[in-house]
Amino acid sequence: MITSTATTGRASARRRVGCGTRGGTGVVYDPLTGLTHRTGEPTLTGRATLANESIAALPEVHPGGLGDVMPVSVCWSPIVRCNLACPHCLDDKSVPELGRGGRAEVAARIAASGVLGVDVSGGEPLLIRDLPTLLDVLVDGGCAVSVTTNGTHLPRRAEALARRVDAIRVSLDGPDPQRHDRWRGEGSFAKAVSGIRAALAHGIPTQIQAVLMRSTAAGLPALVELADRLGVHGVTVLQYLPFGEGASLANVEQVPDEEALDLVGALGPAPVPVRLRTRADAAGFTVVRADGQVWRNAPDSTAIAALRPLTGPVSLAVTGRDGSA
Ligand code: SF4
Repeated sequence: MITSTATTGRASARRRVGCGTRGGTGVVYDPLTGLTHRTGEPTLTGRATLANESIAALPEVHPGGLGDVMPVSVCWSPIVRCNLACPHCLDDKSVPELGRGGRAEVAARIAASGVLGVDVSGGEPLLIRDLPTLLDVLVDGGCAVSVTTNGTHLPRRAEALARRVDAIRVSLDGPDPQRHDRWRGEGSFAKAVSGIRAALAHGIPTQIQAVLMRSTAAGLPALVELADRLGVHGVTVLQYLPFGEGASLANVEQVPDEEALDLVGALGPAPVPVRLRTRADAAGFTVVRADGQVWRNAPDSTAIAALRPLTGPVSLAVTGRDGSA
């Protein structure tokens, strides 16, 4: 992960994080950025509120390097369905979805697992009617919780989310309707921006996520300017991963690591924090998918595979080179 920081009025704000110990070291998971930070001493546990500048001052660490079998955080995708049909979608649309009862069981198991953070993603998680109940279970279990969304339904759901989630991540592929809607469909940019404004109006720490593609890379500087105008808390640029629907576009759209580093580095001191999540950052990451199975990214992030059903904390453990237990 490379990071370009900025000094803005947002820096004085505080936000919720997940705290605990991994490999004998105190760590903080930031639900806004998805980053794990080393605190040095295992003094904090559970959900805690820290100043933005305090979080940024903590050194970043790859969770896989902490020498612990338990992941720091997981992504949970309780839904495959989506109101959009993006050709670069990471999700595997063939994965079957559990029903309401199954989702509730998975939420309870994740909440009891000891992970410090959960990013609820999809599919489009705001299509789930019982989402507030699921989020409450995760928060009550001590997790720092974020939701990753295309933003379409945020205007009507932001108020309920504000009482529950610690951060919102909204996906944007371009800085204007022309460049974003090409990928996500006509009208999707306006809805996503309305969603971002709604989340911010309700006081939810919000960041923009942008998948780095050959076709969209030139729009990055304008996207960062947009992020500043909207007042979001940061931008995370995601290296393209060859998963799901988007696997067929990887050869054309994936930007090599070195070039990705140069592109984000060239943004210079941006008006909002900008980060690149490299493929190395995504290595070994754990995803609980809509089928209730634990999936894990390969060590080189070239594939993701189902390992086992989530039946308890041990299901999430990482012990083998391939992430098997
Ligand atoms: S990328 Fe996101 S918004 Fe687009 S189809 Fe996939 S889940 Fe839906």
